[in-house]
Amino acid sequence: MGKKSRTSLTIDKEILRKAREVGLNISQFCENALTARTRLIEKGFKKCYSCGIEMQFAQRIPFRVKGRPGLVKLVFGEWAAIGEELMSFDVYVCPSCGEIRFSTDEPTRRSLLGKAFLKRCVKCDKEIPLASEECAYCGTKQP
Ligand SMILES: [Zn+2]
Ligand SMILES: [Zn+2]
Repeated sequence: MGKKSRTSLTIDKEILRKAREVGLNISQFCENALTARTRLIEKGFKKCYSCGIEMQFAQRIPFRVKGRPGLVKLVFGEWAAIGEELMSFDVYVCPSCGEIRFSTDEPTRRSLLGKAFLKRCVKCDKEIPLASEECAYCGTKQP
């Protein structure tokens, strides 16, 4: 834990009263909630399209790319051999409906798409696929 900093919050009166009543430590709770959410955002927060709830990180699947660019064949379950680029998919699962989502980190994305297929988000400046209508990081609609 780092140094504590004082801040002021605006909380619904009734919610605050109830929280105190059940013995919640407001500062501690806010700190925990902020820590968890920050971690989620840093890791890439995923929401299920059907249920609207947070998808849970399940597994990281290594793969390598074989063949010429444009004729990419993904080989799962094998770590890249020496000299080949190591890439991976993160697998997210919706705890409610079971939908599965694959996601890649930035280096993997760049290798798969090539720099030319990326653009920068107008708001957060992160690299996103050229065809994206909205930013995968901040959700901002792209012009
Ligand atoms: Zn779902
Ligand atoms: Zn963005």
